[in-house]
Amino acid sequence: MLSETEETDYSAGSFYQTDNQLKRLFMQAQSLIAILRWREGVCELINPLFKNLWGPREVLNKPMRVAWPELGNGFYEKVEQVYDTNQAVQCFEYAVVTNPDSEKEAAESFFDFLFSPYCNQQGDIDGVMIIGFNVTAKVTARRELAEHHLLFKDITDAASTALWTVDTKGNITFVNHTWIDWTGQPYETHLGRGWIEYVVTEDRDRVISSYIRDVNRKRQYEVDFRVLRSDGLTQWVAATGKPRYLPNGDFAGYVGSCMDITERKKSEQLLKDSEERFRNIADSAPVLIWMTGVDKHTTFLNKSWMQFANVSQLLSGTGYLQCDLVHEHDQEDVLDRYLCAFDNRQEFYLEYRMKTYDGYYRWIGMKGVPRISADGVFEGYIGSGMDITEMKEHEQVKNDFIGMASHELKTPITSIKAYIQLLLTIYKNKTEDEFLTKSLTTVNKQINKLTRLITDLLDVSKMESGRLSLNSEPFLLNDLLKETIEEVQHTATQHDIVYIPSAQHYTIYADRDRIGQVITNFLTNAIKYSPESDRVDVMVSTTDNEVKVTVQDYGIGINPEEQPKIFNRFYRVEGRNEQTFSGFGIGLYVAAEIVRRHNGNVWVESEKDKGSAFYFTLPIHTNSL
Ligand code: ADP
Repeated sequence: MLSETEETDYSAGSFYQTDNQLKRLFMQAQSLIAILRWREGVCELINPLFKNLWGPREVLNKPMRVAWPELGNGFYEKVEQVYDTNQAVQCFEYAVVTNPDSEKEAAESFFDFLFSPYCNQQGDIDGVMIIGFNVTAKVTARRELAEHHLLFKDITDAASTALWTVDTKGNITFVNHTWIDWTGQPYETHLGRGWIEYVVTEDRDRVISSYIRDVNRKRQYEVDFRVLRSDGLTQWVAATGKPRYLPNGDFAGYVGSCMDITERKKSEQLLKDSEERFRNIADSAPVLIWMTGVDKHTTFLNKSWMQFANVSQLLSGTGYLQCDLVHEHDQEDVLDRYLCAFDNRQEFYLEYRMKTYDGYYRWIGMKGVPRISADGVFEGYIGSGMDITEMKEHEQVKNDFIGMASHELKTPITSIKAYIQLLLTIYKNKTEDEFLTKSLTTVNKQINKLTRLITDLLDVSKMESGRLSLNSEPFLLNDLLKETIEEVQHTATQHDIVYIPSAQHYTIYADRDRIGQVITNFLTNAIKYSPESDRVDVMVSTTDNEVKVTVQDYGIGINPEEQPKIFNRFYRVEGRNEQTFSGFGIGLYVAAEIVRRHNGNVWVESEKDKGSAFYFTLPIHTNSL
């Protein structure tokens, strides 16, 4: 049929019925117009807008199947139908590939076509007039809108949070599948105010009133509540909603989300429970318990604390240490040491007097440790204190006794020592009686030991009661070291004390006898605790503005956990090995106290069975001798 029409000569066809004016109108029209003749649809007239769809292709006087072979989707059939029925037909959004002959410019466009019968002067149908309107923009816009809808749906479906939109009256207009999954109820049941049904009854009034209040004020809102889940459980959600505005500024409702916060609520509850437990334990404990934040402000005091001092509320900052609860004599020292420990995040132990509910002062031993979170962040301090008044009183009695006993012992011992020395000078080298001289020498040695012990005990008692006075003067430390080493070497039979002197001489301003006592204590310990060795080394050096003295032995050494304790009063290391050495555990305490009172430091570095190095530092005197 098509090939038949191709062979027919249609060029004789003319626009004989249409006058020129109408033709001009067609040609200028802003819609596509074409007149097709006969059933084959021979293109007799086509306006430029229509013709341009096919680019430079020549279509006039050709049957439609030849002129536009690519048209399908019932186009030809529509023309034939109109020709056959003499009835107009319409076709909407018909897709046409424009510029089909150009690979580059070919593009899909859409048209609404009206096919109407075209009659000759006798009124017989003689052709079909096609009028087309380009609706590509409309179709594209609708397609884009559909794509956006799909994208929105995909996004909301992929979200693990529930999403929703609300109109200007506060009615839900959309919820995504997450909310539907949580509640297990059909989409429609949530629209309008239907969603409220799925809020747990106890939370409902609170949620509704806050929702209505915020929606009425067109305010952003946030509210936590529990949702009834399809599995019968409840789930905590945090709902947030943000007002939405149209481009012209009109309020358009809300868009919002609901996040599942069940796990967060659970951990908050656990934290609350554990805090409650901590409070209960702390309140029932007979000790004073407190906590601070990072800013030193007290955040917690237990019941015992509040009752002890008769306070009913937390004081800000370091309030308790500054107010008159702490005895005025202790206040400055306690505050200084507390602030210093706090700033350095160090553990501390303070002893001070605090006013009780009845107005009397009692001694408190207060320990504080930094609170560090699991991820290493400093969170403040926690501490506890105990009433140590009785212990302090016992200590006082003990100190008084030690002071009195050592004082009473000192007089007879001094007299015995004087007689022994007299006897030694009389009988040494003058008698054949070896036993007598040996006995006198041994007694003399033991008396010296006893004298040192009594002196140390007296010193402890003086230190405890703050009666240790220092007679400071400038002197050369190197000279004192030499003298003391010689003295101790004199009594040491097994050990060589090797002094490695420094090239430089250091002047210090201190109590010469007391510093001598420190060196003697270090040296006698080094000898005492290294029975298998025959050497002790002494070195002197400087660091910054300080001079450092080292006494190194190669003896029994000290375990790391014992090292910080050996400077405590009456502390002795307990062990099979250590038990064989006599002592009272006061030598290092006295030495450390003397050095500290001279603004110096003492410490030890030691390895078990290898030996120990004892150090002390003192400030260098600026005016050298
Ligand atoms: P003590 O009278 O017991 O020697 P100190 O106060 O001088 O008292 O020393 C305390 C404890 O420290 C000692 O009992 C001992 O266990 C330990 N110690 C001191 N010096 C040394 C040292 N050089 N080597 C090993 N242990 C030592």
